[in-house]
Amino acid sequence: MQIKSRIRTIAHYPHEGIMFRDITTLLKDAIGLRATIQEIAKRQKEVQIDKVAGIESRGFIIGAPVAYELGVGFVPIRKKGKLPAETRGRDYQLEYGSDRIEIHVDAIQKGDRVLLVDDLIATGGTAEAAAALIQEMGGEVVECCFVIDLPDIGGRSRLENQGLKVFALCEFE
Ligand code: 5GP
Repeated sequence: MQIKSRIRTIAHYPHEGIMFRDITTLLKDAIGLRATIQEIAKRQKEVQIDKVAGIESRGFIIGAPVAYELGVGFVPIRKKGKLPAETRGRDYQLEYGSDRIEIHVDAIQKGDRVLLVDDLIATGGTAEAAAALIQEMGGEVVECCFVIDLPDIGGRSRLENQGLKVFALCEFE
């Protein structure tokens, strides 16, 4: 409960009917922040990881310290138009409309073993697109790690059905 109890829920944000799981209350807490990073990193200590990839923007906050802890590099996966060098991108569906994420073409080398990190998995659409980008570049997605899983929405099963390994520190209904 070190982690879940520190996550705040904001009702009707950003839209009516949405229960937003707010990790800023976890991040501002010294024990909560350390537990989050260490819990994710310790799972990977026995396996070889070459890079951590984090999804904009909360995936950066979690992913970069995990990479530091594991002694590997960090790769940002960003929203459309944010990365300065040559990119490869992928569109994915949102509840209303679509979005695009991008990665630098030189960010992943063929054969890199990559840990994918984001704060939360809901439909799994964002993580699925990010994993596909990494795989297209010849990387192997060793695991997709999240602070929060919303199992009722089905993102975990969606990723697992594609052969991806999924881990989350806690679940909310
Ligand atoms: P998905 O693509 O799995 O449907 O949505 C996951 C993405 O939406 C993540 O990048 C995550 O940051 C964001 N997201 C959606 N709902 C929430 C929420 O309630 N709390 C937080 N912290 N992020 C959310």
